[in-house]
Amino acid sequence: MALLQISEPDEILAHAPLQKKIIVGIDLGTTNSLIATIEDDKPVLLKDNNNNDIIPSVVHYSKNDILVGMEAYNKKLSDPTNTISSVKRFMGIGFSDIKDYKSLPYQFIQKDGLIEINTNCGIKNPIEIASDILKHLKQIANNHFNREVTDAIITVPAYFNESQRLATIQAAKLANINVMRLLNEPTAAAIAYGLDNQNNIQEQTKDGAKCLVFDLGGGTLDISILRLYQGVFEVIAVNGDTMLGGDDFDYGLYCYILEKEHLNALTNEDTALLLNTCKKIKEDLSSKNKSCCTLLLSNKRLLNLSITQDEFKNISQKLIDKAINLVHNALTDANILPDAIDKIILVGGMSRVPFIKHALQEVFNAEILNHIDPDKVVAMGAAIQADILAGNNKNDWLLLDVTPLSLGIETMGGITQKIIHRNSTLPIIKTQQFTTFYDNQTKLLIHIVQGEHDLVAKCRSLGRLVLEDIPPMKAGEPRIVVTFQIDADGLLSVSALETTTNKATTIAIKPSFGLTEDEMTALLKL
Ligand code: ADP
Ligand code: MG
Repeated sequence: MALLQISEPDEILAHAPLQKKIIVGIDLGTTNSLIATIEDDKPVLLKDNNNNDIIPSVVHYSKNDILVGMEAYNKKLSDPTNTISSVKRFMGIGFSDIKDYKSLPYQFIQKDGLIEINTNCGIKNPIEIASDILKHLKQIANNHFNREVTDAIITVPAYFNESQRLATIQAAKLANINVMRLLNEPTAAAIAYGLDNQNNIQEQTKDGAKCLVFDLGGGTLDISILRLYQGVFEVIAVNGDTMLGGDDFDYGLYCYILEKEHLNALTNEDTALLLNTCKKIKEDLSSKNKSCCTLLLSNKRLLNLSITQDEFKNISQKLIDKAINLVHNALTDANILPDAIDKIILVGGMSRVPFIKHALQEVFNAEILNHIDPDKVVAMGAAIQADILAGNNKNDWLLLDVTPLSLGIETMGGITQKIIHRNSTLPIIKTQQFTTFYDNQTKLLIHIVQGEHDLVAKCRSLGRLVLEDIPPMKAGEPRIVVTFQIDADGLLSVSALETTTNKATTIAIKPSFGLTEDEMTALLKL
């Protein structure tokens, strides 16, 4: 038996038109985006007009034109202010969360705490910029299939919170793409490796085989621990950092060079040029011990740069330590020791850096899988999943995800009552019964919070729901059933029902933007 079958497939099949349903898999990456489908039972990546299947997640805005992909990437040096890259880092977060915005060449605008960027083509927010990337990917699919493709599975980092997931869905909507499912990127990678197939991973213990997916991309680190038990694939823990990726290694190297070469007050163009050079040096060092290059700054100063792998490793040590710490946190979440891991999957372009692999080898004895191109493996997994959702694949798969933070409500005295616990398997519905505190209380305010702390003040407020028209009764008499439901995409809706009158209220949680990484870390503290 293989993976997956959470939900809708039957419904989809019931309404399926005679024409084969197309659902594409999209890896909307921080650095690169890819779109894939299944042909002859194999995942294939779709190519743009220039025959590229790895599309830089870069958008260039000029007065009358929007360029996406490599053409936009090529404008980075000549027009850095209007060439937006790594927009995924800004999705669903607040302005105060951008730590390094001073080093970025964009004209940021802070509007009601949210991020906007002034471009030659007008003011754009991150969702609009992401939607321009998605429109481009959709066009690639339309060209490939010779018809409009509207349905997609889009992958997101497992650690994305509700704001970031919603922002992704909103970006898709703007691009006229219907998101059939958000799929966690590491889960997609594991699907691409076919770890559901028991020939690929043995169920060595009675508790099932375990695999750790380490995905270090351009902007995020995603760690997932998956368990394969009796043919079912379950994500038992997710951890990571939405602000740790290749960009940070580039930036570390950039700062090192600034200091070493006594450079200050670089122009926007020089900053972009040097950051780009750092990225190339870093990539070069994955296959060489030393990387040398020269760089001409706008003040005509010629920089002769030479960086060794050891030097780069030293510069990056803090980031490596941070990544390995998060690996240990994931193991703690899953309540297992490193030796319990049977396989490790490396995902993301940064997983090619030799000292990253070495750092993992120091922790684990497990075999490290990296034979599928780490840039493409997520999109391939998304395409496989999409094919199943479209009803084209008769495999009977079960795929389970987990919620990264506990969800609950505020009770008397500002105490958190957890309703769905952290790392619960998704989709999930949980109910809990509450009652009134005063006689003749006709309203009940339900304050929904996310976090691990017992005190509401130390958790994050997600929203408030007011249940009105409760018939006047003695305190403690009304029976109010609160239901928390998280769908397979990780999106939460909360409803409250007063059972004597059947009066119900529901809200879908649209959390306020601006959960910082530090806040996320704080929320995880018990
Ligand atoms: P994302 O998922 O964020 O779009 P990718 O998985 O495409 O990211 O990874 C992009 C990152 O991988 C960039 O920081 C890039 O510089 C880095 N990268 C790509 N190839 C290599 C390489 N050969 N060595 C080191 N880093 C690499
Ligand atoms: Mg990625």
